[in-house]
Amino acid sequence: MKTPRKLHIKSYGCQMNVYDAQRMVDTLQAEGFVETDSAEDADLVILNTCHIREKASEKVYSELGRVRLAKEHAARSGREMRIAVAGCVAQAEGEEIIRRAPVVDVVVGPQSYHHLPQLLARAESGGKAVETDFPAEDKFNFLAQPKPDAIRARGISAFVTVQEGCDKFCTFCVVPYTRGSEVSRPVAKIVDDVKRLADNGVREVTLIGQNVNAYHGEGPDGRSWPLGKLLHRLAEISGIARLRYSTSHPRDVEESLIAAHRDLSALMPFVHLPVQSGSDRILAAMNRRHTVRDYLDVIDRFRGARQDIAFSSDFIVGFPSESEQDFSATLALVAQIRYAAAYSFKYSPRPGTPAAEMRETVSTADMDHRLVRLQELIDSQQSAFNEAAIGTTVDVLFERAGRNAGQIVGRTAYLQPAHVMASPDIIGEILPVRLESLERYSLLGELAAPAPSRTDRSTASSITIGA
Ligand code: SAM
Ligand code: SF4
Repeated sequence: MKTPRKLHIKSYGCQMNVYDAQRMVDTLQAEGFVETDSAEDADLVILNTCHIREKASEKVYSELGRVRLAKEHAARSGREMRIAVAGCVAQAEGEEIIRRAPVVDVVVGPQSYHHLPQLLARAESGGKAVETDFPAEDKFNFLAQPKPDAIRARGISAFVTVQEGCDKFCTFCVVPYTRGSEVSRPVAKIVDDVKRLADNGVREVTLIGQNVNAYHGEGPDGRSWPLGKLLHRLAEISGIARLRYSTSHPRDVEESLIAAHRDLSALMPFVHLPVQSGSDRILAAMNRRHTVRDYLDVIDRFRGARQDIAFSSDFIVGFPSESEQDFSATLALVAQIRYAAAYSFKYSPRPGTPAAEMRETVSTADMDHRLVRLQELIDSQQSAFNEAAIGTTVDVLFERAGRNAGQIVGRTAYLQPAHVMASPDIIGEILPVRLESLERYSLLGELAAPAPSRTDRSTASSITIGA
């Protein structure tokens, strides 16, 4: 039997990169690779990169410096190591990566991961391999499915890509260029994926896509299904207790999604809905194609469907020409919505995007100052949201052992980490937890009832969140 070769993969950026990395591992497993945590030991190192901001993008070159030393070390001990750069930097920079870092053997864009075995074979026969096309075939039909033991090893919560690419062309964003135009996977394929996950212990599935609520995959009836209808179908799959989706665009929230939040107890009442700015002038310059009023209306529709719904968002500060007044409007919007969490970033000009050509840039000092003010406000809202949970009993889906002996960690409906002292047998269970205190961002509590014995598991709790 051939000795398995070792693969080390390091992912940066969004959830889709985490998912893509798993699919690359599944595909290369079929070629005789096994995963290793150590780059030094690996026969193949893949850096799965992110291009969204300059800082993220530059990380690949500093990491390549480190991997080069590992490759040289391997060569001295008579071992060949290959290095591949995947993800959005690979897509955006292509051959330039090999010019800047000749240590790289393979450059592969996100739409071509199914060609990795052939690209690797080309590199092994002495060449360099670069593929950044958008092939006509659907990569999902060619990527290997995860094996049952791989699914189990990855835990009880899984991502499933349902949609890729984006046609929105926000003026600051590279995604439409690196991931291409919107493509939705057919319903039947997603149902198969989710069933396979459920059959192997997965209890929570997060549907992912760059613009996930633009989903319009072909249904079994031959018609285009919106995200809400897909969620209804997935909620029927036995074993799946929780459904989530990310990331949504405010313009694509249609009625079936609102109805899904009203009708499906498995659909978690926590929605990531990026708004970027609270100023209509800046939203227009960003080409977001919605106003602050439109966004507030969408929030109201969600709240109308489910009272306990909470929101998170993304914000960019210091977009070209953002004035102090525009920024104050962002603070006012945050104050009005009361987010459970939010991410905020300093604007980073990305080559090739329209905003990178805009002249009226905001000074670094102003950006820094605005970011601190915004993050203070968001932090205070997040703390208030977490503190409000203390004293309540909520459902927690237990995921893994905690850092302290005897501690098990799970998540509430709002993705808050919750810790209890319990047996590891409860991993994979949803159980009511009385929340007692808060330690930074984690809630501490105790099981509200004794954990059910193994035989009672099929009838586990379903207490109302926030009760
Ligand atoms: N599709 C999502 C949406 O509609 O907002 C977000 C996709 S993007 C991967 C995640 C976040 O990165 C964005 O919401 C935005 O806040 C941030 N982002 C994207 N481009 C950026 C840039 N050039 N500078 C700073 N932040 C950026
Ligand atoms: Fe980028 Fe999201 Fe805008 Fe698409 S909708 S261009 S992914 S920020």
